[in-house]
Amino acid sequence: MQEVEFLVVGCGPAGGTAAREAARSGVDTMVLERDPVVGAKRVCAAGLRPGFCENFDLPRSIVHCDTPTLTMHGLSGKRYEFDVGTAHTTTREELDGTIASLARAEGVHIATSTLYRGYVRDGDATIVEYADLKNGGRKKVRAQHVLLAQGSSARFDAGSPLEYDAWQAGLITCYQYRVYLDTPAIDATYKTLEMHYYLTETGRNVIAWMFPKRDHLSIGLGVAGKCSGKELRAELDAFLPSVASRLFPGVGYTIREEGNLLYGGAPRPCISDGSVMVAGTAAGLVDATTGEGIHEAATSGRVAAEAVVAAKRGRTTSPAQKYERDLKGIFYGRLRHRHKLMAFLERRPVRFDVLFEHLARTPRFADMLQRDRNDYSVGEWAYLYAQAALFSIRAFRP
Ligand SMILES: Cc1cc2nc3c(=O)[nH]c(=O)nc-3n(C[C@H](O)[C@H](O)[C@H](O)COP(=O)(O)OP(=O)(O)OC[C@H]3O[C@@H](n4cnc5c(N)ncnc54)[C@H](O)[C@@H]3O)c2cc1C
Repeated sequence: MQEVEFLVVGCGPAGGTAAREAARSGVDTMVLERDPVVGAKRVCAAGLRPGFCENFDLPRSIVHCDTPTLTMHGLSGKRYEFDVGTAHTTTREELDGTIASLARAEGVHIATSTLYRGYVRDGDATIVEYADLKNGGRKKVRAQHVLLAQGSSARFDAGSPLEYDAWQAGLITCYQYRVYLDTPAIDATYKTLEMHYYLTETGRNVIAWMFPKRDHLSIGLGVAGKCSGKELRAELDAFLPSVASRLFPGVGYTIREEGNLLYGGAPRPCISDGSVMVAGTAAGLVDATTGEGIHEAATSGRVAAEAVVAAKRGRTTSPAQKYERDLKGIFYGRLRHRHKLMAFLERRPVRFDVLFEHLARTPRFADMLQRDRNDYSVGEWAYLYAQAALFSIRAFRP
């Protein structure tokens, strides 16, 4: 049986970052990735926070557009504009592919076309079983540390502490068009991330977006729960003309269709069983109000790598517990709050407009809500509570 210090499942931003950063510190690392080419099949709008490339030491060449403006569109049809610093867009082929090649350069072995099946404890190590999709057959790897980062498709055995009953209810079905224009859209298109919140004719909440890329526009939407490809495509076909008439009126285009599941629930309550760690979307680390999860995924990969390196250097005897504690400290306050906020807004979708109006009037409040940690000063807490109370009063008005 193959032996390795650190085994990572999934080579998205979470798994790729964990592998790269652990290997950089001398940890013998292997990744199991289901797809034959890393990132090639990922469906995503791929918007990146300001500073993402610098923070994760990635080349600027993966950036397609710098997008300093975020626009929010609510039920009223009004458009609210926010300055978000310099956010970026890219594609997952480039993002995941680049992280993977940088990980390989650090000595990581990325085994593509391998499908993770499950794990069992074996003394102080873990045995992971996977299917070899290229050559056939099942194989096993024995690892000191294991990180599961297989995204929204993550499933855990009944009875595992990692299992989360509310997981299925948090899944959002998404459909996206890559729109290739015959001639470029109006200039503002390439500087703006657009988010739209509205209702289908049958009253289901929709979150839709337009993210610009070098050679195409990503225009897509997600609907909570199960929704057939046919229904989603019909909904997207109804949404597309509203974007086209503003951004590329009269311009011809071709489209490439793609679909995927996004997780929009609360973070997974338990993200380590004492030995195996769970990262990225598999841990439920997605902002329910925007669908943003790349920053959270890459950060969780980094925190996992730090825990593994700390164990190798004798600084901790329980890396999985360290990982869980550290990661919850960074993200859980904000992400749990975002999940509650989204449920509150979706109960009466006119509240989206109330929120956008409020944020547009109070840029300081909008800025503070972007922070990962809830490490506010007493004065900032007072300000936050006052703003939240004001928003609630407005949101509860008939
Ligand atoms: C339509 C859509 C738009 C989005 N837009 C944005 C956005 O603009 N900005 C943003 O920040 N976030 C966005 N997100 C969220 C973002 O995609 C996720 O948060 C992010 O991909 C999570 O990274 P990850 O590494 O945890 O998982 P993933 O990126 O899902 O990677 C998981 C990897 O594991 C592999 N895998 C899965 N199962 C197995 C298995 N059994 N064995 C081996 N390998 C396996 C997969 O092939 C994949 O490579 C969007 C999501 C969707 C669906």
